[in-house]
Amino acid sequence: MPSRIRTTTLPSGEAVPVLGQGTWKMGEDRRRRADEVPALRLGLDLGITLIDTAEMYASGGAEEVVAEAIAGRRDETFLVSKVLPSNASRAGVMRACESSLKRLATDRIDLYLLHWPGTVPLSETVEAFEALKVAGKIRHWGVSNFDTDEMEDLVGLPSGGNVQTNQVLYNLSRRGPDFDLAPWCRKRGIPLMAYSPVEQGALARNARLEAVAVRHNATAAQIALAWAMAQDGVIAIPKASRQEHVRQNTAALDIRLTSEDFVELDRAFPPPTRKRGLEMI
Ligand code: NAP
Repeated sequence: MPSRIRTTTLPSGEAVPVLGQGTWKMGEDRRRRADEVPALRLGLDLGITLIDTAEMYASGGAEEVVAEAIAGRRDETFLVSKVLPSNASRAGVMRACESSLKRLATDRIDLYLLHWPGTVPLSETVEAFEALKVAGKIRHWGVSNFDTDEMEDLVGLPSGGNVQTNQVLYNLSRRGPDFDLAPWCRKRGIPLMAYSPVEQGALARNARLEAVAVRHNATAAQIALAWAMAQDGVIAIPKASRQEHVRQNTAALDIRLTSEDFVELDRAFPPPTRKRGLEMI
C-alpha cells in the first residue's frame, strides 16, 4: 500500500484504507464494463484497495465486475460485500454468501455486511455471520444503515460485539450521524463507512465547496472527500467509473483542510443540533 494512503483500524486490529471504491450502478450495462474494470484496477494501483460491493447491485452484476477487476490481485484487495435483509436468515445468509463468493470468483469475503435492518431476528443473522467466519468464507462482518438504537441492540447480542463497521449515508449534506451515531461508533472504535460521500455527484457541483476548493487548487468533490476522511474513524467509499475521478479521489488524501476551511464548511453545512433519524439512499 503506498505510504500516502492513510488507514484506520477495525476493532479486529486490522488496518484498512480510509478511502475505498464503491460499485453501486456498476455491472448494469455490459458496454460500460470497459470503463468500470480499468477504473477499479487503477484504484488498486493507487492503493485504494478496499472495494465495496453488494449482492443487490445490478443483481450480482457489480460483484462480477469486481471479480474481473481483482483477478490475479485478490490478496491485495480488501473486499466488502453485503447480504440483503431478505436473505438474512441462517440458511439465507449461507446461500447468499456462496453465491457472492462464486460471482466474486474468490474463496473469502473480507467484510460481509447486513445491507440494512430487516425482519429476521438480528441474533440469527449474527450467528450465521459467526458460522461463516468459522468456515473461512468471511473474515469479518458488520452492518449497514443501522441507527444508534439498532447498534445498541446489536452489541447487546451474543457475539454482537464482533461488529467491525456500520456503513451509512454520510457526507457534508447528510450530517445527521454527527449528532450521536458517529460519536457512539468512535467511542467504541468501530469505523463508520461513509457511503455516497459526494452525494451521488451532487457535491461535485456545489458552489460553497468550490469556494473552498480554489484555495487548495482542488475540485469540490475532492473537498467533500477530504472533509469526510478528516473525521476520525471514517472510511469514504466514493464510486468512480472514470479513471480521472479515481485519480482525483486518491489525490484528495493529500488535501489538508485548514481550521478556516472547517469553519466555512460548518457554516455552509451546519452540523445537527438535534437527533434526526438515519437517512438512507
Ligand atoms: P457517490 O460515491 O457519492 O457518487 C458517485 C458519483 O459521483 C458517480 O456519478 C461518479 O461519477 C461521481 N464522482 C466520483 N468521483 C468524482 C469526482 N472526483 N469528481 C466528480 N464526480 C465524481 O455515490 P454512491 O455510488 O451512491 O456511493 C458510493 C458507494 O457507497 C456505492 O457505490 C456503494 O458501493 C456504496 N453505497 C452503499 C449503500 C448502502 O445502503 N450500504 C447505499 C448507497 C451506496 P463516475 O462514476 O462517472 O466516475
